[in-house]
Amino acid sequence: NEVPMSWTWYDGRWLEGNPPLIGPRSHAFWLGTSVFDGARAFEGVAPDLDRHCHRVNASALAVGLAPTLRGEEIIELAEEGRRRFARDAALYIRPSYWGELDDPTLVIGADPASTRFAMTLWEAPMHEPTGISVTLSRFRRPSLECMPTNAKASCLYPNNARAAREARDKGFDNALVLDLLGNVAELASANVFMVKDGVVLTPAANGTYLAGITRARTIDLLRKAGTAVVEKTLRYEDFLEADEMFSTGNYTKVMPIIRFEHRVLEPGPVYRLARRLYWDFAHGG
Ligand code: PMP
Repeated sequence: NEVPMSWTWYDGRWLEGNPPLIGPRSHAFWLGTSVFDGARAFEGVAPDLDRHCHRVNASALAVGLAPTLRGEEIIELAEEGRRRFARDAALYIRPSYWGELDDPTLVIGADPASTRFAMTLWEAPMHEPTGISVTLSRFRRPSLECMPTNAKASCLYPNNARAAREARDKGFDNALVLDLLGNVAELASANVFMVKDGVVLTPAANGTYLAGITRARTIDLLRKAGTAVVEKTLRYEDFLEADEMFSTGNYTKVMPIIRFEHRVLEPGPVYRLARRLYWDFAHGG
């Protein structure tokens, strides 16, 4: 496998490759204080880059880290980084904060004495939306009382990863994850939508899952195009009767779900509309 071209801004300098920035005494390495965001650049555009750059500051606050840059400065760094690549290169853009440990006597419960920031960009090809298969996970999303579930915090992802792994072991691409009340929350790595009788349905944002930026954008675009989108509590059984299902997330954007459990689904008209609207929006249309 070819190593992707990658640049990281850290402490005022651009470093090539995958620089070792975290040591064994870092608070993040030890106790998990790390947050990130992910945006995409492709075909010369970077849709909602600003929202992703602002969200990383909100995520930092949610885990007790003090953001050291303003959202606007993070956007500037992302744009500066983009200029290191070909104009139409497909990139993953990842701002991140993590905790260091200046005072080695601080242990659990102490805020990290200082916060570090890095902006990393690397070449990551956009995949064709061939469609994914999804199965119910036995793992659940923790609630906001248990974890900072409204943040893009690294400490949440081992839970998402075991749901994804379990799904793959069963021969599926991704997992449908419920919250502690048994309502549908999201997929292991994306938000989820279904269509029933022409109405688009998606779980209401209740703080137990990442109500994504691509989700919000897709809802907005569909509504502006005259399609009804309802955010409500949805059960697993609702999805078993869906006419269409699709997912949203920064990495693959709008992706059709073409199998849910034993049910084979077609990429349908609402999915195609959502994807086209997203592309038009991304290109300024
Ligand atoms: N949920 C999870 C758990 C995710 O990791 C992602 C990807 N960031 C999403 C949802 C989608 O969010 P967004 O559209 O903001 O990328």
